[in-house]
Amino acid sequence: MSKENIFVLVADNNPLDIDTIKSALSSHSNVNYKIQTSYTGPETLEKVADNKFDLVLMKQDLPGMNGIEMFQKISDRKLNMPVIMIVPEGEENAGVKAMNKGAYDFLTSDEIMTLSLPRAIHRAVHRKKLEKDIEKSIVKLEKMATKDGLTGLYNQSHFLEVLNNEYKKAQRHLQALSCIMIDIDYFKSVNDTHGHQFGDYVLARSADILKQIARDTDIVARYGGEEFFIILPNTDRKGAYILAERIRVAFSKKVFKKDKASQDVTVSLGISSMSDHNMISDDVMIANADNALYSAKWRGRNNVCTYEETVIEEKIRSGEDPEKVKVFHNRFQNINESIKVNCIESAHDILLEIDGEWEHINEHSVRVSQYAEQLARKLSISEDEANTIKRAALLHDIGMVGISSDILNKKGKLTANEYSVIKRHSSIGMKIMEETKMFEKELPLILYHHEKFDGSGYPHKLKGDTIPYGARILALADAYDAMISDSKQKVARTHKEAVKELKVHAGKQFDPRMVNSFINILNGK
Ligand code: GH3
Ligand code: MG
Ligand code: MG
Repeated sequence: MSKENIFVLVADNNPLDIDTIKSALSSHSNVNYKIQTSYTGPETLEKVADNKFDLVLMKQDLPGMNGIEMFQKISDRKLNMPVIMIVPEGEENAGVKAMNKGAYDFLTSDEIMTLSLPRAIHRAVHRKKLEKDIEKSIVKLEKMATKDGLTGLYNQSHFLEVLNNEYKKAQRHLQALSCIMIDIDYFKSVNDTHGHQFGDYVLARSADILKQIARDTDIVARYGGEEFFIILPNTDRKGAYILAERIRVAFSKKVFKKDKASQDVTVSLGISSMSDHNMISDDVMIANADNALYSAKWRGRNNVCTYEETVIEEKIRSGEDPEKVKVFHNRFQNINESIKVNCIESAHDILLEIDGEWEHINEHSVRVSQYAEQLARKLSISEDEANTIKRAALLHDIGMVGISSDILNKKGKLTANEYSVIKRHSSIGMKIMEETKMFEKELPLILYHHEKFDGSGYPHKLKGDTIPYGARILALADAYDAMISDSKQKVARTHKEAVKELKVHAGKQFDPRMVNSFINILNGK
């Protein structure tokens, strides 16, 4: 039987030590030690650079570089080279230190003359071999894994493998084959609103929907983040479209609920098919679905688009001037905004004429809108939403016009009956503003600005996140301003008392995640 070859680099600047090591190893009959030597730190580094040794036997301190530096350099270069450190007799501590830094073993200078040397080399070389085997097994296992951990769907690498096979099969037998790529719309904002964990929950439940709708012979995979693919063997473009549309509708009807969070999401879908005019490979199958998905997003999301439609749309799009459209949109948006502002001002003017008391409600609304706008901006919501909240705040009490002046002007405590009439103001407000069709986004905030986080508010006893975000902002701003203002029924509280009250009712009346931000604004922080 041929002897095992072990390539050893002996890094030692003392020729006597080198001779000792050589003779100790040459007497070892089972192994053929191929020994090379180096005398300095830099020389050692140069020699190990091409990774041809099985092991380095290294004296602790070599000229030009100490042992610790050497380890650092070897590990920086990811050489994964087993090193046995040789330390002077009585300095075993240095050996332990070296092992902590990554040396496989250490020997004292006395031990290199004994059988300990070949034994340590044998152990190190075999440990290295074991480590390599484990690494290979892990790579193999990863390749063998076909499922995605979060959703239980096939993962991307399995998807690619299956698609490759299906493509070849379809090509060979002239069969139909289609793919649907699915991407959740505005998923980033799902994470931003409810947190990553809820996002993960939506992904897992979305996978359930896809599995439920697809046939057993279809292959459903998670392609990446919030993107999925379905391979549809024996299915032409028309069949794929029917399935994609079914998926789109299923998502548009579904509300994802977990604990207190509740969220609806839509999906956009892109379809590629064996009969696409440019189909030449499975890669093109993926690219076409991706392009079609892009078109579905471009159409405004919650949409299905085939690759062939994309081609037509791209032609149309290439004749468009998106810049001009953008400029028009921005300018028109500004006009729209100022129309709304004028409309709100006119509403307040009319109300002032109808009811002299209105001035007081008007001033309150202006203050609430200022608080609400500041809070909205602190919570980093979009410019568009912040403007909606600001306008809703100016309009939030507009329904008070429908409440009898006797009740509004009553001095002292209201009876239960009178209070229930007052409570009608949010619904009346919504009805009044509904007619203009201009304040669609503001309407839910007007209607729900008296809902309470714990579900005890009015008019619909909405709870937690089911209350629109802007209405929760409005509720805080409204309550604070009401507390610090005098009214017919009560005297004003101080700022300090009002802040205390906000804190006490965090989680009950108010969204607890907003209260501190609002108090910071009030305290000028
Ligand atoms: P669009 O309608 O254009 O698709 O908007 P979008 O927000 O869905 O698009 P975008 O691709 O910008 O964002 C995808 C987000 O998906 C970004 C990332 O935070 C989130 N995401 C990706 N993987 C995961 C995951 O495993 N879990 C969770 N919770 N979120 C993920
Ligand atoms: Mg998305
Ligand atoms: Mg995406």
